[in-house]
Amino acid sequence: MTLQYCKKCILPDSRPNLEIDSAGNCNCSFGDESSTIDWEARKKQFADIVDEIKAMDRQYDCLIPVSGGKDSTWQVLKALEVGLKPLCVTWRTPARNKLGQRNLNNLISLGVDHIDVSVNPKVEKAFTLKAFEKFGSPAIPMHMAIHAIPMNVALEKNIPIILWGENSATEYGGDAAFKGTEITRAWLEKYGVTFGTTAESWVSDSLSIRDLGIYKWPSEDELRQASVRAIFLGEFYKWDPRKTAKIAKEYGFEEAQEALVGQYTFADVDDAFLMAIHHWMKWYKFGITRSWDNLSLDIRAGVLSREKALQEIKRIGDETPYEAISAFCDYVGISQARFFEIAEQFRNPNIWIKKNGLWVIEDFILTETDWRMYEV
Ligand SMILES: [Zn+2]
Repeated sequence: MTLQYCKKCILPDSRPNLEIDSAGNCNCSFGDESSTIDWEARKKQFADIVDEIKAMDRQYDCLIPVSGGKDSTWQVLKALEVGLKPLCVTWRTPARNKLGQRNLNNLISLGVDHIDVSVNPKVEKAFTLKAFEKFGSPAIPMHMAIHAIPMNVALEKNIPIILWGENSATEYGGDAAFKGTEITRAWLEKYGVTFGTTAESWVSDSLSIRDLGIYKWPSEDELRQASVRAIFLGEFYKWDPRKTAKIAKEYGFEEAQEALVGQYTFADVDDAFLMAIHHWMKWYKFGITRSWDNLSLDIRAGVLSREKALQEIKRIGDETPYEAISAFCDYVGISQARFFEIAEQFRNPNIWIKKNGLWVIEDFILTETDWRMYEV
């Protein structure tokens, strides 16, 4: 396979759900679509949904899954602004850091009820290691929990709608049919980021279905009967990470001193290692890092030229997150040698080749090759 890079941003077609058209542009809805969207009409649409929900007169109007990050802070602000009473629900990451806790406290102080849900750490560790070994993705338990917990709480508490933030299908390319819809199993399979698995798929001698119960999605019947809807606020308000961060900061959200993952000090700030490993594996699998996503969003937002982004990639160089790898290994109980052994199994043979005893990406976007080579 020859890697093809989008002419406008710097993302390659190895990224899942990303396609490059004959003109050389990717489907990350670069400028074109979002500039033709009638945002005023969308706002009106949202107002209609809000009226509908309020008329139901339930204990809670909506459920907002939150981490305390800039996006969830913004989601809460938006919900409060339009007069909704939200219940906020967090899956407590085992990697939560001090800044993450402060930001979550800040979010709650905006004036919401909140539930912080912890998974049995023995189960979570074992599941995380299995997911990393099987799919090179330590974030499968996280993604399952992030969806299952709010859904089950919404059903249990009779909450009519879940308010998500950014729609990753819009932000990085994807299927238009899934933009803004009722939650179905298909929706979960598409957005769950669980490699097509469900909690049931991970039952083994060491993990029973009862152990994994907290990760279980509601059945199709339960979903239909309760008719819990889910919408992305990013479908109704133009989603701009910098603007979201600015607003969140005005309401007490704190940035990190230094970017923990990728280039943004205002994103992925609450987690000491899981997100870093999750994103790092994209280097093996797709030949990109979180910085590539960040820089591509900046190009799209018009704050960075493609040429500058490429200079940045070159300047940043090797992004191996050694600290996060060390913390992750301590967490799941493996050696770093074992970590790299597992990671190596996910090096994509379609994009990486061995040259003079080094791993290189064929047809890499930059022609200078020294920093991207890996000793074998
Ligand atoms: Zn693009």
